[in-house]
Amino acid sequence: MTATTESYAHYVQKEKIMESALSGSPVVALCGKVWVPGRDPKKYPVCPMCKEIFEGMGAGGDKDKDGKGGDGKK
Ligand SMILES: [Zn+2]
Repeated sequence: MTATTESYAHYVQKEKIMESALSGSPVVALCGKVWVPGRDPKKYPVCPMCKEIFEGMGAGGDKDKDGKGGDGKK
């Protein structure tokens, strides 16, 4: 799930965005960006920091394992 700021689309938990839409409270993106998301979805490039963190979480990422067991195949 992404939400846009002035120039980037950031990764944010979907629940947080829905919560924000109701309460008007700001959301926190993976990269630490805090803002109140707007309503209109615009086409922006994905925030590089968010993308890196998101992929590092193992959600479809293809990162090298570091100090962990397993053969990494999936
Ligand atoms: Zn971001």
